[in-house]
Amino acid sequence: MQLENKASVKRFQDDLLTWFKGNQRDLPWRQDGDPYKVWVSEIMLQQTRVDTVIPFFNRFVDKFPTIEALAIAEEGDVLKAWEGLGYYSRARNLQTAVREVHEQYNGIVPSSKAEISKLKGVGPYTSGAILSIAYGIPEPAVDGNVMRVISRIIASYDDISKQKARVKIEGIIATLISIDDPSSFNQGLMELGALICTPTSPSCSICPVQKHCLAFEQKIQLELPIKAKKKQPKEKKLVCAFIKNENDQVLIHQRPTTGLLASLWEFPNVELEGEELMELQLEKFLQNEFSLQTTIGQQIFHVEHVFSHLKWDVTIFDVELLSIGIKPNERSQWVSALEIKAYPFPVSHQKIMKHCLIN
Ligand code: SF4
Repeated sequence: MQLENKASVKRFQDDLLTWFKGNQRDLPWRQDGDPYKVWVSEIMLQQTRVDTVIPFFNRFVDKFPTIEALAIAEEGDVLKAWEGLGYYSRARNLQTAVREVHEQYNGIVPSSKAEISKLKGVGPYTSGAILSIAYGIPEPAVDGNVMRVISRIIASYDDISKQKARVKIEGIIATLISIDDPSSFNQGLMELGALICTPTSPSCSICPVQKHCLAFEQKIQLELPIKAKKKQPKEKKLVCAFIKNENDQVLIHQRPTTGLLASLWEFPNVELEGEELMELQLEKFLQNEFSLQTTIGQQIFHVEHVFSHLKWDVTIFDVELLSIGIKPNERSQWVSALEIKAYPFPVSHQKIMKHCLIN
């Protein structure tokens, strides 16, 4: 390992910090070091690219600028502000944890590892990021970018999808992190992974830590890191109804309060089973679930959506309502094209809405 003594660790820190200070991107959550904003940004950045997060982050902190504002907000408003970002349990956990901070810590994000780590949805990465970036505490913050960079620097063939590899890298960061500026150190490693030490074509020729990197020295940077392939997501076929009543209102339905996309709204849909025609299965579902007499019309749209473990393949039919004045069940609503905008929908159903209400 190139970083075997204090002097070489110091040189590594200096090279990384100098580069970061001259090259960091101007990101909205880097502006004031507010622990709440750092927290929101780190939760949004999990599984989501920086460019995608920026407009969501700006809108979210405009709407909920403080711990208190988010703590007292309605869950539906929080989900609406998160609409389109996916992984909605992140938003629900964030609000649960923020309420705890509001009630138990007087609205101040705790600065101790033991306390912050107990908050819902705050794992080792998020706690390390908040403690180092907002409070200047030298805690490792190991995300996917950092795992890749460190695996290459130490030329490690450990499988980074394994918890053991993460723990090992956290231990290495704890020995490398700058005590004077842990915020820039952690952000510098993340930024290096995002801009220079990228997954498939690392720019080693302009890398500020090239002389510390064993993978570069051994010309194995393209082999690393090792990451076991994920299982293919399981496919679910769904059939979905776009259905209007006599007042030109469309039927929407709220998902259960737990599980996938909990409490979000959607157009009525059901998973296909067996060989029976899609139209027949949809007609029976609308009768059983909503007591609606219908005629299934044309197939009008088709949408696919991939979650981390699951793929939805949704076929949407235009459905004619035969029964008039039916009251939907308690988790359903008839809404106008204007009213529907106030409800939080998952991305797949936003696409259906856009297609069916605009076309
Ligand atoms: Fe990554 Fe190349 Fe820099 Fe090593 S030299 S850290 S492989 S970009």
